[in-house]
Amino acid sequence: MRDVVVVGGGHNGLVAACYLARAGLDVEVLERDDVIGGAVSTVERWPGVQVDRGSSLHVMIRHTGIVEELDLAACGLDYIDVDPWAVAFAGDDALRFALDVDETCASIAAVCDDETADAYAAFVREWSPRVDAMLAAFHRPPSVGALGRAFWPLGRAAGRAGAELARDFLQSADALLDATFRDERLKSVLAWWAAQAGSPPHEPGTAPMVATALLMHRRPPGRPRGGSGMLTVALARRLGQLGGVVRTGDGVVSLQRLADRWSVATESGDRVVARRVMSACHVATLLDVLGDARRRGQLRIGRGMGMVLRVLTDRLPPYPIDVEGAHHGMQLLAPSRAMLRSAYGDFLRGEAPSDPPLLVMTPTATDPSLAPAGRHVVTVWTQWQPRHLRDGSSWDDVRDRETDRLIDAVDRHAPGFASSVVDTLLQTPADLERELGLHAGNVMHLEMTLDAMFALRPLPGWSSYRSPLPGLYLCGASTHPGGGVSGASGRSAAHVLLKDLRRRWRR
Ligand SMILES: Cc1cc2nc3c(=O)[nH]c(=O)nc-3n(C[C@H](O)[C@H](O)[C@H](O)COP(=O)(O)OP(=O)(O)OC[C@H]3O[C@@H](n4cnc5c(N)ncnc54)[C@H](O)[C@@H]3O)c2cc1C
Repeated sequence: MRDVVVVGGGHNGLVAACYLARAGLDVEVLERDDVIGGAVSTVERWPGVQVDRGSSLHVMIRHTGIVEELDLAACGLDYIDVDPWAVAFAGDDALRFALDVDETCASIAAVCDDETADAYAAFVREWSPRVDAMLAAFHRPPSVGALGRAFWPLGRAAGRAGAELARDFLQSADALLDATFRDERLKSVLAWWAAQAGSPPHEPGTAPMVATALLMHRRPPGRPRGGSGMLTVALARRLGQLGGVVRTGDGVVSLQRLADRWSVATESGDRVVARRVMSACHVATLLDVLGDARRRGQLRIGRGMGMVLRVLTDRLPPYPIDVEGAHHGMQLLAPSRAMLRSAYGDFLRGEAPSDPPLLVMTPTATDPSLAPAGRHVVTVWTQWQPRHLRDGSSWDDVRDRETDRLIDAVDRHAPGFASSVVDTLLQTPADLERELGLHAGNVMHLEMTLDAMFALRPLPGWSSYRSPLPGLYLCGASTHPGGGVSGASGRSAAHVLLKDLRRRWRR
C-alpha cells in the first residue's frame, strides 16, 4: 500500500509528489499520458525539433523558491533568463520591456512621451508592494486569515482606507490603465498581457493581472534550456531520487473509498491502494472519475480560451524595425484595445476572431539546441477561441483556414514571415482538450474570474486543497492560485496533507 497516489503528472502533481516524498512518504504518480508534464512538456514534433506542447515562458515559479528548495538545477534544469521579456510592435514603433525599469521607461519615453514613462515608473512603485501581497497570498491556502495576513500590511503602510485598496484590486484592467496612462499603445500592450490569464481586460477583478507584469522587473521570466518540459523532467528525476515512482500511460479511471484507504483503478486494469490521494489532474476529470455529475456541472470551465500555432521556419520573424533582443521574449502583437474587444466579441458569438491578437515567441532565438541549424520554432498564441464554433463546424474542419489566418496575421507585423514557413502544427482548443486533458481547451483549467478564485476555486467546500472526502486532496491549476507555471498549489497542497498527517500522529 502506498502512502499517497498522485493522480496526474503535470508540474503541480510532480511538485506535490516531491515535497511528500521528501517528507518520507511512499508516493506514486499515475499519469494518463505517455509523456509526463501535462502542459509543461516538450516533444519532438519534427525530426530533430523540440516543441513545447503547452507553456513556454515560466514567470511565477521563479518567484516561489521551489526550484531552489528542490535543487532542480542539480537535476538538469537550466533556466535561460529572458530579457527583454517583451517587445510590442505597433506600426513603426516598438515598446521594449526589460528587466531594468529605467531601460523600460527610456523605451516608453522614446515611443510615447516623458509623462507616460513617468507614469509607468510611478505604477511600478505603487503596485510593487501589492504584487508582494499577491505573491504571499498565492503561496498559501486561501483561508480568510491567510489572505488577511497577506493584504493587511498593504492598507496600513499605504495609509489608505481598506475599501479604497479593495476597489483598486477589484477594478478592471481597463479601468486601471485608463486611470494610470494616457497613451493607448502602452495601455493595449499591458491589457494584452493581463488578458493572458483568460479574462478580457474589461472584466472586474482583472487589474491585478496587469500588475503581474511587474514580477518581470524583479526577475526575468525563464525558459528551460531544452524546452519547457525540462522543468517536469527535472522534477521527475528529483522524485526518483527521493524514492517516489512515476507511472506514465496509465490513467486513473476510478477512485473508491474502502474503510480508511483509497483503491485507485487504472486504465490497464491495475489497482493501487493508498492511504491518501492527491488529485493533480483537471478537477472535471476528478469529478468524472468520482461520478459526481452535479458538482461537475457547477465548475466554471468556460467556453474556451485560446489556441497556439507552432511554426517551423527557416528564419526568425523579420520585424520591420530592429529592436535589440526582440526575439528573446514575448512579441506582443495587439496594437489596440479595440482589437482585443473585437476578438472577444467574436468569441462571445462563437466565432474565431477575424483579426486575432497575437503573442509570438521564438524559443530557438535563445536556445538553438531546440532545432537543427537553419531552422526556428515560432509559437503563435492567440485568444479568444471558442471550444465550440457557432456554425457547427469542428475545429478539424477549419484547421487550414485558421492556420492561414494566423500566418497572415504574423506576416502583417513581420512582412516575409509567410515565406519562411516550412511546416505548421495548430493546437486548436479541441486539440488541447484531446492531447492535454484541458477541458474546453481552457489552459487555466477553470476561469480565472472572481467567482472561481481563492476560496471559491475549484468550488466552495473544495478549496484549500482538501475535498470533503476523507483522504482526498487536490492541487493543480484547478485550485488556488490557478493556472500558469507556478507549482504553488502543488507545494501548498503537500504542506496541507503533511499538516493533517502530523495532527493525526499527535492524536
Ligand atoms: C498552449 C499553452 C500555452 C501555455 N503557455 C503558458 C506560458 O507560457 N506560461 C505559463 O505560465 N503558463 C502557460 N500555460 C498554462 C500552464 O501551462 C498550465 O496552466 C499549467 O501547466 C497547469 O499545470 P498543472 O500541473 O496544474 O496541470 P496540467 O498540466 O493540466 O496537468 C494535469 C495532468 O493530469 C493528467 N491527467 C489527466 N487525466 C488523468 C487521469 N485520469 N489519470 C491520470 N492523469 C491524468 C494530464 O495528462 C496532465 O499531465 C500554457 C498552457 C497551454 C496549454
